[in-house]
Amino acid sequence: MKAEREITVHRFEASLFPVNAYLVETRTSIVVVDATLGVSDGKTLRSRVEALRKPLAAVIITHAHPDHYGGVNPLLGDADVPVFAVAGVNDVIRRDDAAKEQILRPMFGDEWPATRTFPTRIVQGGERVSIADAMFAVTDLGPSESPHDSMWRLESDGAPGVFVGDLVYSHMHAFLADGFYDRWLVNLEQSKRELPADAMLFMGHGQPVAGQAMLDWQANYIRRFLDVLRTAVEHDGLQGDALEDAVTAQMKKFLPRDDLLFLMRLSIEPMRVRLGLRQELRQSDDGLSATGER
Ligand SMILES: [Zn+2]
Repeated sequence: MKAEREITVHRFEASLFPVNAYLVETRTSIVVVDATLGVSDGKTLRSRVEALRKPLAAVIITHAHPDHYGGVNPLLGDADVPVFAVAGVNDVIRRDDAAKEQILRPMFGDEWPATRTFPTRIVQGGERVSIADAMFAVTDLGPSESPHDSMWRLESDGAPGVFVGDLVYSHMHAFLADGFYDRWLVNLEQSKRELPADAMLFMGHGQPVAGQAMLDWQANYIRRFLDVLRTAVEHDGLQGDALEDAVTAQMKKFLPRDDLLFLMRLSIEPMRVRLGLRQELRQSDDGLSATGER
């Protein structure tokens, strides 16, 4: 009985930019959790699966962002392998894929796959899903880091492990542009109550870390971003490039690394709009520019 639950989790980090896929190796097969974004990384992921010499039983997609589902197509090729997701993740991927094409094609060229493979097996939050000889408990988080997130907890005899997607970044800058920061904070708080204290968090970006301090760290990162953005717009009156530079400088004080900094920068203008932040109108400045003939 015990041997049936022996499971090893391998992390695969993409080369295009740091995003993880995980290979869950059971006694008989492999389950891949998330698939990175690009063609080259998706193909390399496939060769990692092949190197383990066990059949690929399924792919799981944790949330609705393209850096987690784009690589499913190059990973699978023509192989008939089920792709699992909760309904909300499936719906958002299909709804937003055409818009992601518009954004990602210019950024990544042919690395963004010409066709994308979508989920084919829809599961419910609260379900326990048996795939090959692994058992996953699914939590449907709803809007969080992306418009729809989920968490997949692996049941095994070893230390508890949970695939949290981008609920938590492992000390990397975060993408906040989808604007669900309030729901994200609630989900972090709830996960702190519900996850085992020693759970290994298999994150979408960066090294897996055990323990709940990461959940607090992520909440603090989000709150700091909101504070910094509000101050820079409403107090310092910044906009455009000056706003981006000021927010970036402040966030690098919180996290003095460059990893995924571009995702945080991409979030500044959408979040300014989402929060309804506007520069205070300065009468004196207007006056000056109106009478600026000297
Ligand atoms: Zn991501």
